[in-house]
Amino acid sequence: MKQLSDNTKSFLQSEKRLFINNEWVVSGSGESFETVNPADGKRICNVAKAGKADVDAAVDAARKAFTAGVRSMSPGKRAALLHRLAELIRRDMGVLAEIECIDNGKPYKRALADMKSAVGHLQYYAGWADKIEGAQIPVQDPSVLVYTRREALGVVALIVPWNFPLVMAIWKLAPALACGNCCILKPAQQTPLSALYLAGLIREAGFPAGMVQVLPGDGETGALLSHHNDIDKVGFTGSTAVGKKILAASAASNLKKVSLELGGKSPNIIFGDADMQKVRESLVWACFFNSGQECTLGSRVYVEASRYDEVVDALSADTRGLKMGPGMSNPDLGPLISEQQLNRVQDYIRAGRTEADLVLGGRRQADELADGYFVEPTIFAAGNQQSSIVQEEIFGPVVTITPFSDEDELLSMANGTRYGLASAVWTKDISRAHRIAHELQAGVVWINGYDMFHPAVPFGGYKESGIGREMGRSALDLYTQEKAVWVKL
Ligand code: NAP
Ligand code: MG
Repeated sequence: MKQLSDNTKSFLQSEKRLFINNEWVVSGSGESFETVNPADGKRICNVAKAGKADVDAAVDAARKAFTAGVRSMSPGKRAALLHRLAELIRRDMGVLAEIECIDNGKPYKRALADMKSAVGHLQYYAGWADKIEGAQIPVQDPSVLVYTRREALGVVALIVPWNFPLVMAIWKLAPALACGNCCILKPAQQTPLSALYLAGLIREAGFPAGMVQVLPGDGETGALLSHHNDIDKVGFTGSTAVGKKILAASAASNLKKVSLELGGKSPNIIFGDADMQKVRESLVWACFFNSGQECTLGSRVYVEASRYDEVVDALSADTRGLKMGPGMSNPDLGPLISEQQLNRVQDYIRAGRTEADLVLGGRRQADELADGYFVEPTIFAAGNQQSSIVQEEIFGPVVTITPFSDEDELLSMANGTRYGLASAVWTKDISRAHRIAHELQAGVVWINGYDMFHPAVPFGGYKESGIGREMGRSALDLYTQEKAVWVKL
């Protein structure tokens, strides 16, 4: 098993405070919480918890920084800061990946890939910083000049989940900072550590005090941010249930802008004419990547009836070959994030046993993995599309596989949940591929592939999978507001 580096060990031993105004500060209440290694259930360290006084102090620092300088910082300077931060993440990628690996549980090589993706994201938005343009709009009256400006919102709170802790933070910070906002990042309570390490890099990169704060905490901290009257926007990634609370908090406070990247229950559709070799290379990862803790997980597999048995057999064989273990042992799959998540996933598996046929898996891992939160990758053959394991996001390594006989039946099943985040279709018939792509109610459709991402391509949900699109040019709309200026000549 890979050992932690000295740099990681010394980071873990340091006191974990809040990051406000480029300073490490103790929490007003003195409260802290434990973060745990999900591979063995042991405490890693304690982290200061941000309460009301800390949220107020962070908002105050952000507001002052925005008014005093960030508002008028040149686009070139914003770009340079983002490039510098990208360089520092690249320099410390090994430490950050180790931190992510023990705090979240994911395999080390996957954590490294996360860091590379974070670097690419920052570089992409550094490129946008000096290209955020308004327009000159011709109107009927030639004696009137109208132009638009795209202005930063001001103070934005960024609330993120635990499944890709640093990547989710960067997906939000990069466009928000490129647009010239001041940010308050709240990592998930299960995974606060990479965000705190990032805070150190933000200071080292030379961001002015107050441009970024990091406030570890729990749902209460998130609620304080989403109800705050001096926060202009909340950018949120997480569950649909909490997303709805954030919208309600906006309505109950200052009508702050809200963008939401929420849950999913994505269909992965395999037609009989698909290249089965390529399907096979992708399918097991579409089903179980990140131990199923992925918003775009292809958790509902639909296979044309003529090839159904063959695909079930191939997926089962490939799933049996997956190795589970602590992230530092570089397995295929790490543990679930917490005991609570373990219980939740086991409850769904219990329900699944009464609703569908268990094909494979279903048990908690024993022996040397018994202290961690490991569940076997699990496959159910599910005919009943109204069952809980087909309708609800489980967020664990549990998938259903269902045959279909024609396109109408397929589309009614594929579109038959409240979610609409991602989807995929496998076929060699290009007309059918595009026809299905047009009919699917999802923010992304992959054809003959799965889980392809790029910072330039918009990402977000239909239906209850969210509001707004992150990534690409679209994210600039999430972190700016448009002003029309009329000039009577
Ligand atoms: P979650 O329970 O909704 O939590 C997400 C974040 O919201 C955490 O930081 C959480 O804090 C905070 N929070 C909890 N209650 C809050 C409240 N009342 N007000 C404000 N903030 C609050 O989600 P999760 O379990 O961490 O993550 C899994 C979910 O994220 C899944 O549904 C998944 O599909 C979704 N997700 C979506 C995307 C996407 O791009 N669409 C990407 C990744 C994940 P604490 O955890 O500290 O309590
Ligand atoms: Mg943890």
